[in-house]
Amino acid sequence: MSDLTVSDQIDNVLHETRVIAPPEAFAAQARVSRERYDELYRRSLGDPDGFWADVAGELDWTTPWRQVLDWQPPHARWFVGAETNIAHNALDRNVARGLGDKRAIVWEGEDGEVRTFTYSQLLAEVKKAANALTALGVQAGDRVTLYMPLVPEAAIAMLACARVGAVHSVVFGGFSVSALADRLNDAQSKVLITADAGQRRGGLVNLKANADEAAKNAPTLEKMLVVCRANCDAPMQPGRDVWWRDALAAADAEHEAAALDSEHPLFILYTSGSTGKPKGVLHTTGGYMVGTYLTTQTVFDLRDDDVYWCTADVGWVTGHSYSVYGPLLNGATVVMYEGAPNHPDWGRFWDVIQKHRVTILYTAPTAIRSFMRQGDDLPGRYDLSSLRLLGSVGEPINPEAWMWYARVIGGNRCPVVDTWWQTETGAIMLTTLPGAHPSKPGSAGLPMFGVEPAIMTHAGTELGPDEGGLLVIKRPWPSMFRTVYGDDERYRRSYWEEIPGVYFAGDGARRDADGYVTVIGRVDDVLNVSGHRLGTMEIESALVAHPSVAEAAVVGRPDEVKGESVVAFVLPQVGYEVDPVALRAHVSREIGALARPDAILIADALPKTRSGKIMRRFLRQLAAGKEIQGDTSTLEDPGVLERLAATPFV
Ligand code: ATP
Ligand code: MG
Repeated sequence: MSDLTVSDQIDNVLHETRVIAPPEAFAAQARVSRERYDELYRRSLGDPDGFWADVAGELDWTTPWRQVLDWQPPHARWFVGAETNIAHNALDRNVARGLGDKRAIVWEGEDGEVRTFTYSQLLAEVKKAANALTALGVQAGDRVTLYMPLVPEAAIAMLACARVGAVHSVVFGGFSVSALADRLNDAQSKVLITADAGQRRGGLVNLKANADEAAKNAPTLEKMLVVCRANCDAPMQPGRDVWWRDALAAADAEHEAAALDSEHPLFILYTSGSTGKPKGVLHTTGGYMVGTYLTTQTVFDLRDDDVYWCTADVGWVTGHSYSVYGPLLNGATVVMYEGAPNHPDWGRFWDVIQKHRVTILYTAPTAIRSFMRQGDDLPGRYDLSSLRLLGSVGEPINPEAWMWYARVIGGNRCPVVDTWWQTETGAIMLTTLPGAHPSKPGSAGLPMFGVEPAIMTHAGTELGPDEGGLLVIKRPWPSMFRTVYGDDERYRRSYWEEIPGVYFAGDGARRDADGYVTVIGRVDDVLNVSGHRLGTMEIESALVAHPSVAEAAVVGRPDEVKGESVVAFVLPQVGYEVDPVALRAHVSREIGALARPDAILIADALPKTRSGKIMRRFLRQLAAGKEIQGDTSTLEDPGVLERLAATPFV
């Protein structure tokens, strides 16, 4: 082994060995058994064209493909020459197969209001919205930005764009004026769809005022379509602004979905920005449709009577693939909840589940750790017996949080699927299938169909079992992004040239002898302590396993002797005090002296993106005693950095 290979490897430090078999009752009736997974997975690699043609064949296409895949690295075209429409497949197709009266969306506002749309009703709204967009001058290929609260109109607007072939770019409603303006300009959007306001923690967020400010610096913008969510009293600019309800009232009720090339762009979505400048990730129609359709069906074991709730906002890729497109393509009943998880208190999610008899819950580790911090009593007061499956996405889930989720929320009855994927991958890439595979808490698991992962060194040497390195994907997959919008050079450089010939995910990981992949942090977050490369996630998981710690973030600080030393930011569990001496001893015991934090900061909050991810680059600056530098606009709570800077390390 060369020196380069050695230093490229990431040491495994956490000795997590729990293996949890799928609950028997669940496994007995699961859609995909272990044998079936093995058979399908083998075929998906051995005969990818046949495999993907069969899956795609379950959906409607107006023109068939000439070729399943055209791979000109690093550019792929899937279902070449075919024409289809994803909104048609999500709506018209489901109505045609008898689901017209089935509930498509059950929406609950933060104030408790409930609105329900059947598949027929949703289709009718989307047809009118599509005609309204056309009336505003929107044509296939034009970019339409959405800056909206999580209301049904957000999904309707996305589907209406897809129906006419406009490319949507959803900007999370919590983003600032400048973040919105940057994204409007990067996408060169012609139309902005927004709302007068959104409800958040009992208050109103004035989206229209932000939209007006951003529009001043967005020269390509021609029209603004405004949904009334609050008082309908927003000032409207004549000639530019139109109320959504007026536009829809004036629109024709009939609309035929545009037949679009399989490679027609469907959406641009900017990544969360946890590692740097957000990238405009571009997805296209056919492959994305097939990928989200198959993964939603198999990973969530969807059945006709499921009530499925993915808590992600449509501003994130999870909201695109698993709140809107994937479940609607499968004819599922989707729950949407507009507000904060702690409004009026931390029992709100459990209330939504009890009220709507939710059967499948898909949420993020950051939310799970927040619930855990409040203790077991609150969820215990609700009837969660309708739940049969739980999912996690967005970050590595610490084994302790996994166990809590399975026990307290899942009643030890529900399998937990930990799904690894990215904005760039479009759909779930690594997970366990709920009735087929045992879970190993903290490890995402096995590749989905057609996904061929590997762990490599930077030099491209493939590593063996339990050797930590860089996570890569060795072949193209249908829902992969096609480019970075307006910056194909960045697409090549950041994703395909880092290690030539493979897709570079930017995450550190290892794979065990059973093929389970454990993501141990982003590559930028790997620490080098006395020549050992340690993943942040493993140290954080050890910290969170201590009863006094609710959340933890670990970063490196330059150290003359060791190269880097470990610095931990910890958030105490409600009702506990953190004892730094005991905590250091605990980390030494769990994973070894090497990982013991040199400095600990007991925090009242951690800097997170608005999607709930810890922004470690700011913590690295704080740990090194530097001034905060870089874009803080994607932070959930901008004040947190100041408070941390004023708190001493112990
Ligand atoms: P940016 O690329 O701008 O920094 P981001 O990577 O946070 O933003 P996303 O595409 O939403 O934006 O997140 C994908 C990343 O989230 C993955 O690369 C990985 O680091 C992490 N991640 C998501 N799901 C999991 C999971 N189940 N286990 C471990 N890590 C996960
Ligand atoms: Mg990323």
